[in-house]
Amino acid sequence: MKIIAFLNPKGGSGKTTAAINVSSCLTGSGKKIAVVDTDPQMSLTNWNKAEKAEFDVYTAASEKDVYQVRKDLAEYDFVIIDGAGSLSVITSAAVMVCDLIIIPVTPSPLDFSAAGSVVTVLEAQAYNRPVEARFLITRKIEQATMLNVLKDSIAQTGIKPFKTAITQRQSYVKSVMEGESVFDTNDGAAKGEIAILTREILELFE
Ligand code: ADP
Ligand code: MG
Repeated sequence: MKIIAFLNPKGGSGKTTAAINVSSCLTGSGKKIAVVDTDPQMSLTNWNKAEKAEFDVYTAASEKDVYQVRKDLAEYDFVIIDGAGSLSVITSAAVMVCDLIIIPVTPSPLDFSAAGSVVTVLEAQAYNRPVEARFLITRKIEQATMLNVLKDSIAQTGIKPFKTAITQRQSYVKSVMEGESVFDTNDGAAKGEIAILTREILELFE
């Protein structure tokens, strides 16, 4: 079992949207997936109120639940942690237990600094146990200047970004609102980018 955590204390960076769609794609490829909602705002738990998810959803009540994930959810192929919207003990617990940290970041110029706090926690963790980490550009818009600034900021951290970004698309907003993923829509471009991103993620475990 491998644990992947989507972490960025900045709310609105696209953690939940990315977690839902990557998890849906992994489920579609035949993997047994659990998603753990660690956000006190419980967006992913609420998303699943419609009970349309094809993977299992758990809600972490505290960091204790996060520390127990490897033991409690051992029967899954992948456990996906949807991170909290603040730098809390829950974020540190997720960094400590996971095999891969994905840091979703948007091209919005004011958004990047919050991601730095995750980098600090993971650098501290790396003294005990190296942990793989990647940036994931989300809500990507074709605005060259903003994108270049973001790519420069990412390069300065020494942590690589995924080649594949998640584009800003209405289909992500609409499907999540309906308790679904882009795989329930006819947006082929969205489905395609999530599939390529998921392959990039899986390659890190080969
Ligand atoms: P977080 O979990 O980091 O707070 P969310 O996934 O909830 O972020 O996304 C924040 C907002 O941005 C939501 O309203 C969501 O619908 C929207 N959003 C996220 N990703 C995309 C995307 N790729 N395209 C369009 N809107 C997006
Ligand atoms: Mg969220």
